[in-house]
Amino acid sequence: MTIAIEVNQLTKKFRTETVLNQLSFKMNEGEKLSIVGPSGSGKSTLLRILAGLENPSHGSIILGGKNVTTIGARKRNIGLVFQQPLLFPHMTVEENIAYGAKVMGGHSKEKTTNLLEAINLTKAKSQFPNELSGGQQQRVALARALATEPDILLLDEPFSSLDPNLRQELRYWVRKLLTNHSITSIFVTHDHEEAMLMGDKIGLFHEGKFQQIASAYDIHNSPANPFVVKFFGNHLL
Ligand code: ADP
Ligand code: MG
Repeated sequence: MTIAIEVNQLTKKFRTETVLNQLSFKMNEGEKLSIVGPSGSGKSTLLRILAGLENPSHGSIILGGKNVTTIGARKRNIGLVFQQPLLFPHMTVEENIAYGAKVMGGHSKEKTTNLLEAINLTKAKSQFPNELSGGQQQRVALARALATEPDILLLDEPFSSLDPNLRQELRYWVRKLLTNHSITSIFVTHDHEEAMLMGDKIGLFHEGKFQQIASAYDIHNSPANPFVVKFFGNHLL
């Protein structure tokens, strides 16, 4: 197994607050990790630091065997999808996705066509973002991120602003796309069911660290500590 992500002793402090506290973990290539944890526990900070949008106070990040701790976001080949789709409003669906492909150079036309098909929006390719539903917009954001051919995709509560039906639909699309592309992914969510569905493993983040990273089954059968039991309650039955 090739290690895609290796985080060693990662610490992040904002003034007096320690948000990441000597955090260490590893992920294999193609692995899918869901992260849950209390609000304000540092989940988004961890993703931003992995993506290179923020610097850690201490520690190292090794991606695909390469130490990227001091390397900028553009050179990390990581895709990011946020809660808000953040599409370019003046570009069509097709242009938004092609933009992602162009960032990486190469033959963008075929890639864009395939991604449009994969997110089932071929018919909407000439529409602008404000003509799409929230779920459709989020699908375009995902396709745009995938168009850059990232080694790693980070998703920070990407479905949080969508209604329950759309969430269901999107889980299906995203899971399928991630599996087809065998991308290493981290999916942050506050929905326990979604965490189980989107990840091979679930990591519970609290007090600057993972309290446990394991399959839903293992967390249920052998929770690492009382906090894990309390956090999940009956949700993992
Ligand atoms: P989560 O995504 O788990 O809700 P965040 O990573 O957004 O948590 O935030 C973790 C903590 O770090 C919070 O207390 C937040 O206020 C603080 N924090 C996040 N970003 C900054 C920043 N740029 N400056 C100061 N404090 C920050
Ligand atoms: Mg967050």
